Amino acid sequence: MAALVGLRDGIRGCRRCSLRRHYDCPVPFAGAPDAPIMFVGEAPGADEVVEGKPFVGKSGQLLRRAVERAGIVSASDLMVGNVLCCRPPDNRFPTDMEIIEACLCWIRSVMEIVRPKVVVAIGGKAHEYLRGSDISITRACGIVEDWTMDLPTGEMTVRYIPTLHPSFCMRPGNPESTNPVMSLDIKGKKTLLLKHLMIAKREADRCQVT
Ligand code: URA
Repeated sequence: MAALVGLRDGIRGCRRCSLRRHYDCPVPFAGAPDAPIMFVGEAPGADEVVEGKPFVGKSGQLLRRAVERAGIVSASDLMVGNVLCCRPPDNRFPTDMEIIEACLCWIRSVMEIVRPKVVVAIGGKAHEYLRGSDISITRACGIVEDWTMDLPTGEMTVRYIPTLHPSFCMRPGNPESTNPVMSLDIKGKKTLLLKHLMIAKREADRCQVT
């Protein structure tokens, strides 16, 4: 699809923020142009930078296993991207300026072209910046809502579900925490991620038949 090819080239040549000074290979989105489900993560890691594709490293492997188990089997079901296309130096958290002012326009343009039925925010930063939400991911995860986006071509409504980042699912829990998700062990977090992806699949199937 020509629009997506143009967008990919735009991302690869992007100089909208200073991250490009440290870094010469923004990682664009990847997936099917008419995917009913779109995953949006935080930022590429080292492996993604090497391969030039989102979610191909350790997190991506866990995500892919969960995707398959959730029944999202076909590559044509998915489009994947990040709220930030460059990897901040020393793995630091991205700044608001880098995400909101510089980079968010890219993933919004991908959504505008692909027009997914379901958007899954992968992790806290994706949820925070996509939805402008200050509710922590450990409280928001798994809650499905209609999200209406104001895009240059008009409004678009998708089913939206935030979930845990696979890297968080690989971390041991803190049994002392009063937050039920924070206190889950690795197995419990992975189970929750799988449950959210199954919900996303169910929502996408529902949208296909209506
Ligand atoms: N983590 C993300 O949030 N995105 C990627 O592409 C890889 C790891």
